[in-house]
Amino acid sequence: MPTAKWEAAHLVTIRTPYPMRAAWDLRLAIIGIRCHRRVAESLSNVLEEILEAYGSLAEVRHYGMDRFGGAYNYRRISGSTKLSLHAYGAAIDLDPEHNPLGPAWRAGAGMMPMLVVELFEEAGWKWGGRFEGRKDCMHFQATG
Ligand SMILES: [Zn+2]
Repeated sequence: MPTAKWEAAHLVTIRTPYPMRAAWDLRLAIIGIRCHRRVAESLSNVLEEILEAYGSLAEVRHYGMDRFGGAYNYRRISGSTKLSLHAYGAAIDLDPEHNPLGPAWRAGAGMMPMLVVELFEEAGWKWGGRFEGRKDCMHFQATG
């Protein structure tokens, strides 16, 4: 398990540029995201770009991009012994309800907007929808 010391040295909390909601309980407001300090600026920029691209919170909500599925979380990749990048605070899940683990992305199914995928990828993040094998369309991770 990560120590409090590791967390204090590596994690920061960014303020979300628009109000988000917990995907597991939409009544729960998410105003900050705990993540690795090395990805904090990039993550905050991408979220700002998402808001800018959609132009309003209503549009962001329409596409489910305010539905926060988690970021820093000490866990293994399910079905594996490898640590997930969530364990380092270098990954974020968005709108898990419409992007469940497993199924490949398909158009017209209300899944991850390609606009959002492009914004993350331009910033150097990897999208789980392009994973070899099991797809994870809700998931973005910073690498390198
Ligand atoms: Zn994830």
